Amino acid sequence: MNRRAENNGESQSEHTTTIYRARSVITMTQESPQAFVVLGGRVVASGKTETLRARFVDADEVDFGDCVIAPGFNDAHMHLGMTAEDLLHLDLAHKTTPSLSAAKAKLRDQARLVAPGTWIRASRYDDAKMAERRVLDRWDLDEVSTEHPILVIHIAGHWGVVNSKALELGAIDERAEPPFGGKFGRDATGRLNGILYEQALFDFAYPSASKQGRTVAPTSSFEERLAGLSRAVQMFHAAGLSSIGDALVGPQELALFQEALRRGLLTLRVNMLVTHEHYDHIRRLGLRSGFGGERLRFGGVKTFVDGAIGGRTCLMEQPFEGTTDDYGMQTMSTGELRDIARMVHSDGTRLCAHANGDRAISLLLDQLEAAENERPRANLAHRIEHCTIVNEQILARMKRLGAIAVPFGSYVLYHGGKLIDWYGRKRVERMFAHRSFLDAGVAVAGSSDYPCGPYEPLLALQSCVTRQGWDGALVGENQRLTPLEALALYTTNAAYAAGEQHIKGCLAPGFLADFVVLSDNPLQVNPATLGSIEVLRTYVGGDCVWTSA
Ligand SMILES: [Zn+2]
Repeated sequence: MNRRAENNGESQSEHTTTIYRARSVITMTQESPQAFVVLGGRVVASGKTETLRARFVDADEVDFGDCVIAPGFNDAHMHLGMTAEDLLHLDLAHKTTPSLSAAKAKLRDQARLVAPGTWIRASRYDDAKMAERRVLDRWDLDEVSTEHPILVIHIAGHWGVVNSKALELGAIDERAEPPFGGKFGRDATGRLNGILYEQALFDFAYPSASKQGRTVAPTSSFEERLAGLSRAVQMFHAAGLSSIGDALVGPQELALFQEALRRGLLTLRVNMLVTHEHYDHIRRLGLRSGFGGERLRFGGVKTFVDGAIGGRTCLMEQPFEGTTDDYGMQTMSTGELRDIARMVHSDGTRLCAHANGDRAISLLLDQLEAAENERPRANLAHRIEHCTIVNEQILARMKRLGAIAVPFGSYVLYHGGKLIDWYGRKRVERMFAHRSFLDAGVAVAGSSDYPCGPYEPLLALQSCVTRQGWDGALVGENQRLTPLEALALYTTNAAYAAGEQHIKGCLAPGFLADFVVLSDNPLQVNPATLGSIEVLRTYVGGDCVWTSA
């Protein structure tokens, strides 16, 4: 459906005027028009169909009958570049790989296909959903092959498992020291079990987050990753996404996105959060967050304070359930965090810092407040990525600073009752605290962090409105949102988190013509069925980029 040629964004719809109508048009403004008019990739008018027909006599008309139109969905924080790579490797998602034995069988099949010495990579492995109820380790992978290096990445993207061959290629032996912010897993007898945590995994797998700028496991070729990117873009459009924020962008991703844009493949709008390792070049050029176009822009600087929620490495004030001394991990020293926060802030650029646990968020707020006191900057609105576990003080400090929260939208649905096992019933009441943010007047945007959680925004709406897991468990029902509040997370609020609230999130004159056609009205269906609403079409800039039929 992509009609864009190799012309950097010029499209057929650029010069035609079209009136769109449906049973309902959700605009995310006070207006509920029957129809709206698109010209030059933007909404130019809305109102009664008859009035619009009289005003735009030559306009084409598209009537979606009993369907519902809403603004295109926007996921403030996910990983497009990582997905482009992941889609080229073995998929161990639990739906099709429910056990360790099934995972090993898939890996073994792959090993038979490729020559010894070739890397075998797999992603989306979820230890919490494996039938054997134990963790995959080095010895499992050695059973698959001792000739092929193997790397299996956990769904949360913050730890992975390798076999002995891969450890050898990474020069990791029993005496090796892990990098700062990383850890090597060990078994009960103290031997390396092949699990690599945080920075230790990044150095193996993610060039943009690796300290050396290159990885032990080689990445795919540029053309392969472009093909992976096209698949990823279509997959996201099919879920109604017209915009996303990529929260881990380095030179590799920048090259990929720019080439995809040139070839007309980047039909998704991308707000890029550039990793702090590469910020030095950007600031020397004098670029600030907001630089770029409506398709590809520099949204802010990404940095990490702690570990993950699904990976159980976040830094907290109280230890993990069932432990007395496991408070999680700080992955960046406080000194380095202070330097980055001060530099990015004083440059007038938005910091987008990953902080999950309450201890990590408080540490980050210390640095943001210090930077602001040193040099007040109105309306900069730094972001706290994930911002999962909050308390009253955190909410009050964020409100004072004007900081934006970007929590996981679908973790309750995706992890279900496991969250209560890991974090306890009391603590989950202040996790993914969408309700608390809204009540405290703190801006909050929707995000999936895909591949860490499901990418479909409608599933996230269901999760935020019901607070019910896939297993039926209710997780922190006190944080429930109304359907309209949940929809705002993925439209107007995500636009605000990218600094694009003047052009995205609403279907109103002057806004980009990014919209979705849905089989039903998300503001009216039974909330437990929100995730089953079908996305029939997705439009970006007035162009239909995806259709279900
Ligand atoms: Zn992320």
